[in-house]
Amino acid sequence: MNNQLRQIPQIQTLLTLPALQDAVSQYGHEDVVAALRDILAQTRAAMLSDDQAELPAFSDPCFTRQVTGAIEAARAPSLVPAINATGIIIHTNLGRARLAPQALEGMHSAGAQPSNLELDLATGKRGSRHSHVERLICDLTGAEAAVVVNNCAAAVLLSLMATAQGRSVVASRGELIEIGGAFRLPDVIAQSGAHLVEVGATNKTRTDDYAAAIDDTTAVLLKSHTSNFKIVGFTAAPDRRELAALARDSDVILMEDLGSGVLIDLAPFGLPDEPVVADILKSGVDLVMFSGDKLLGGPQSGIIAGRRDIVAQLKAHPLMRAVRIDKLSLAALEATLRLYRAPHDPVADVPVLAMLAEPLAQVEVRAQRLAQMLGQIGLQDVRVCASIAYAGAGSLPDQDLQSFAVAITIPEHTAKALSTALRTNSPPVIGRISREEVMLDMRTVQPDELAPIVDAMRRIARS
Ligand SMILES: *Cc1c(COP(=O)(O)O)cnc(C)c1O
Repeated sequence: MNNQLRQIPQIQTLLTLPALQDAVSQYGHEDVVAALRDILAQTRAAMLSDDQAELPAFSDPCFTRQVTGAIEAARAPSLVPAINATGIIIHTNLGRARLAPQALEGMHSAGAQPSNLELDLATGKRGSRHSHVERLICDLTGAEAAVVVNNCAAAVLLSLMATAQGRSVVASRGELIEIGGAFRLPDVIAQSGAHLVEVGATNKTRTDDYAAAIDDTTAVLLKSHTSNFKIVGFTAAPDRRELAALARDSDVILMEDLGSGVLIDLAPFGLPDEPVVADILKSGVDLVMFSGDKLLGGPQSGIIAGRRDIVAQLKAHPLMRAVRIDKLSLAALEATLRLYRAPHDPVADVPVLAMLAEPLAQVEVRAQRLAQMLGQIGLQDVRVCASIAYAGAGSLPDQDLQSFAVAITIPEHTAKALSTALRTNSPPVIGRISREEVMLDMRTVQPDELAPIVDAMRRIARS
């Protein structure tokens, strides 16, 4: 056993050292004690596992720096900006949609100053926070009415609770999704107080299956975007128009959880399979729900659009208050939605769409540029290669976007070690590993992020 172990001093003794008393007056007693406790625990562990481990020189400035360094590290912000080099445009773990400058300005003024959030300026009476975006959503989707809540999960829960509590909801077995973060459609239906009636088979469900399941307890036919998976092969799902006719004849509501929800046709950018919200409503769906921070490219929010009488029911529901959108997100959403109207061009002005639509040649130029910059700092194993990017966040799971990446290896680092070093850099650089190389996909990296990536690599290669 390491016989210096017993010589580790008491924290109270260490606190009498002048340098540590200075630290106490700068950082406070509690933080210094907490840092000392951590450092002494590490020292003890090191000595237990290694007979030769030395006791630190406690009165050395080095030790004081270790203590103040630990305090500074503990006080540093936890939520920090990162560089998304994954090629996944809407990456939920990295905060989903990057917002447009106009959306950021909207958040800034809504946060810095009072606003007419719930004040009708014309009458001086209490207004509704929904009024700021309802008209815009209706114009962009053709809906009669709309309301916005905290996120799409809340939109689904509220919509079902307000229309189907104590009654039944008919849904296809092929669409009972789990989208991650413990959002499972059957569980959400159960939470809403509705009873789920599953129809059809995993790969095939027909309009007749829905028709056979309808009885006097039925309130809703629920369709859902299968988001993060795709059933391929021998499949069938009913046409929306047929289901809409069935819902109308049976006096029940046809609802669709779209998940991502796009406001413009993405076919010109190689993404033909995502239905546009306006078309879905036109085909007779009564109510749709979709996220604000997926392909729409705005802040976290859930948009509900459709029949006026149903939206009025939602607005009046007691759960509404619990799931309402906050003013910062509302401001960002309004500003983002305005980018879909002339004179703006959403494909140029909404960052998510701009990244989806960026010409491949331009992505390649950025990859060449990064490779060249990395070569200039002396890295040898750097090459530009074709890559596949994705929309992400459960949108368009099977639709590859052509992209380019920079593949990097450095001596004496495994790909895993390099990837970890990049991730723990400040700012964190998040890439992916493919065949023992770290790949930095340039479709999700902005031109001004190249220099910080090079700085990170310079630091890592030196260490
Ligand atoms: C993403 C998604 C949701 C949840 O949306 P959030 O905005 O993350 O709450 C719900 N349904 C579907 C089909 C989705 O893809």
